[in-house]
Formats: sequence, C-alpha cells, structure tokens
Amino acid sequence: MDDPDAVDRADAERRDAADPLAGFRDRFATPDGERYMDGNSLGLAPAAAEASVERVVDEWRDLAIRGWEAADPDWFSYAEQLSDRLAPLVGAREGEVAVANSTTVNVHTLVGSFLDQLPGTPAGSDPAGEAPAVVVNELDFPTDHYAVRAQLRQRGIDPEGKLAVVESRDGRTVRAADVEATLDERDDAGIVFMPSVLYRSGQLLDVERIAAAAHEAGALAGFDCAHSVGVVDHDLHGAGVDFAVWCSYKYLNAGPGATAGLYVHERHHDVTPALAGWWGHEKATQFEMRGEYTPAADAGRWQVGTPPLLSTAPLSGALDVLEEAGVDRVRRKSVALTDYLIDLVDERLPDAFAVGTPRDPDRRGGHVAVEHPDGYRLSEALRDRGVVVDFRPPNVVRVCPSPLYTRFVDVWDVVETVRKVVETDAHLDYETRGGGVT
Ligand SMILES: *Cc1c(COP(=O)(O)O)cnc(C)c1O
Repeated sequence: MDDPDAVDRADAERRDAADPLAGFRDRFATPDGERYMDGNSLGLAPAAAEASVERVVDEWRDLAIRGWEAADPDWFSYAEQLSDRLAPLVGAREGEVAVANSTTVNVHTLVGSFLDQLPGTPAGSDPAGEAPAVVVNELDFPTDHYAVRAQLRQRGIDPEGKLAVVESRDGRTVRAADVEATLDERDDAGIVFMPSVLYRSGQLLDVERIAAAAHEAGALAGFDCAHSVGVVDHDLHGAGVDFAVWCSYKYLNAGPGATAGLYVHERHHDVTPALAGWWGHEKATQFEMRGEYTPAADAGRWQVGTPPLLSTAPLSGALDVLEEAGVDRVRRKSVALTDYLIDLVDERLPDAFAVGTPRDPDRRGGHVAVEHPDGYRLSEALRDRGVVVDFRPPNVVRVCPSPLYTRFVDVWDVVETVRKVVETDAHLDYETRGGGVT
C-alpha cells in the first residue's frame, strides 16, 4: 500500500478514484458481480436508452398514426435528428450522416452506389476499360466481403478477380504499406474498403493514410467503423473519406440490432442510391407519393424504407449519455484501460498468453485481443465465473473494457480470474469446440 506503483488491486482503485468518467457507470445496467467485457459486441443498456424507447412505445399506444408528427421528437424527422447528433462523433459535416438500415445493408447500398459511378461498371460497358476492383483485407469482418462480392456479381463483375484482398503478414494486423503496395500493383482499383478497427485484433488502421493512398491511386475510400464509432474520435470529412458505415449496438450502446449509421462526403451527394426507397426521398415531397424519384439532397438519400422506430429510439437516450461524457474523454479513458489491461497481461499471466493488439495506443481501438491456445475453453470458464468476454477463432479472447461503464478494478479482477483459471487448469473441464453466439 505504501508504494504508489505497486501492482495490486489498490492501484486499480486509485485509478478509479481519479477517473473523471467514473460516475457514468451508474447510468448503465451493470449486473452485480459480473465483469462485462463484451461492449464491443453489444454495449450494456443505458437507462436513458430504455426511457427513450419506452417513450416511443407510449406514443405509439397514445397517438398511433399521429405520432409521425405529434410525437416528441416527431417520428418523421427522428432519424434526421439523430443523424445531426452523430455527425460530430465521426467528424462529419451537417448532412453527411444518415441513421438508417443495418450495417450490412449500408455496405450493400454504398458499395453498390459507388461502383455504379465508376467506369467499367457494369462489366463490359466500357470496351476500352477494365471493370473496377474493390480492395479489402484478409482480416475483415466476413459480412463486408459477402456484401462486396454480391455487389460486384450484380454488376456482372467476377469477384474472383475483382475482390482484391490485402494479406496480413502476422494474422493479426494489416499494414498501410501493404494496402499501398496493392494499389501500386494494380491499376483497376475503384474502391478501397477497409475497417477502421479490425474486429479480432483491435488494430486501429490509419484512416487518413489509407484514404490518401486510395485517392492517389484514383480510387474511392470507404470504411467500416463498426468497431470504432463511440470509442475512437474520427475525422472522416477532414480525412477526405468518401463513405463509411457503422452499427449502433457496440460502443454506441443502442441495443441489439439498433438502426445503423452511414456517412457520405458532401461531394457525393448527387450519387444515385443503389437501394433506392421512399424514405430516401426528398422530405418536403415524400408524402406527395410521386412516381418520380427525387432523392434527398444529402446523405439522407441512402435511407431505404421506414425507419424502425423501436430500434432507432434507444440511440437517442444512448447518445445523451455519450454526448455528456464526450468522445474525447471516452477515448482517453479507453486508452488508459487498454494500456492497463495489456500491462497486467504482461506482468501477471503466464507466457502462454500473448497480446495480439498493437501496443502503440494510436494503433489500437477499444478492445484487446488476449491470445491463448485454449482460448475457447478459457472464455467458457470465464463466463461461468462472471467474466463476460468473447472468443474469436482460432485463439483470441477479446476483452473490451468499455469506458463508460468499466472500472479499472474490473480489469484487475478479470486478469486475476484468468490467472486463477489457468493456474488450477479449471478451463480443461470444458469442451473444446465452439458454436453458437459468443
Ligand atoms: C459488428 C460489425 C458488423 C455488423 O453488421 P450488422 O449488419 O449489424 O450485422 C459489420 N461490420 C463490422 C466490422 C462489425 O464489427
């Protein structure tokens, strides 16, 4: 206790006492005795989000159809109001963000819309030119590849040749230099579509550098920010990013399947949406029900159908909390938590453990990949001991200390639980195979 640098639980308590965001934990449903480290898959429920969804339920019951205008906020502009609030979180200008659809649907509509802009789309349309390629990476979240392949195929473009997959050298990270090398090697790159943070290792990619490289090569730059929005501060407009997508149920804490978000740089607000729908119509005339399609003049044009209000409303309350905390402070605490976690893994766990996340905080998102050959059984044993983490094959236990509700003592307790499990071989009592949702 006398040594201020002592590695013990009291040290974690001191860090919590000095944490300016400590009070935000009370705004969330944090089950007693549980160490929840899965906020990068599904953020915990803020009471304010429960309240905002209950409000819409009440309005549905009391106002029925009148809710589109008479609810507060009115349902007709609900998504637009949230879009204005999300713009500063991603460094977008007014009109560049839309709260709409799901992440995967947004990948479809944006990649499809931008492919349609490129020479050589659809395949064979430009006898002088080749069809465009989409540059992705080997470690992407699978849905991104599924959607991009489908959009290529729909334009007669063979994904075998035109999905250009940048390889990882270490199975954990992707080097910007390797993205640049791919762009140097091929002259058909039309879109570079990368994640901001890799879902498994937690590497934060250099968005600005990759966007600049894409533009240098004459390609567009798109990003999947599902693992960074709400925990990493972004400057999408400043970096010249052409488009981006993200979900609202990870660090935005808006609940399972909550309505997702997208960003499109203002220079592209004349692009025709690939998945056109009446909710992307110009608002002033939407209800005139014209046969002619006049898309909204901003990113709102990438909305498709009626926003699912019950899945959109929780974002309102969740943003109240995040706005009050401020994403800059959230990012600072996130880095402090992951630094602390990495130090404890190094100091307190046996050599069989490795940290798969970059140690440079500027290259790290909000979670840490703790690697162990028995990762699956370990994550099961941890769950039974009140530590909620998830496992990603082949050997990664993802540990996410989400800054709005995770304390430094939680991080300490998690590492101590891991240490005790492996010390006693308790994880060997579990089955080795995976399956189901983790
Ligand atoms: C979570 C996540 C998604 C999820 O997409 P949904 O359409 O919401 O299922 C997509 N991409 C990445 C990178 C993610 O982390």
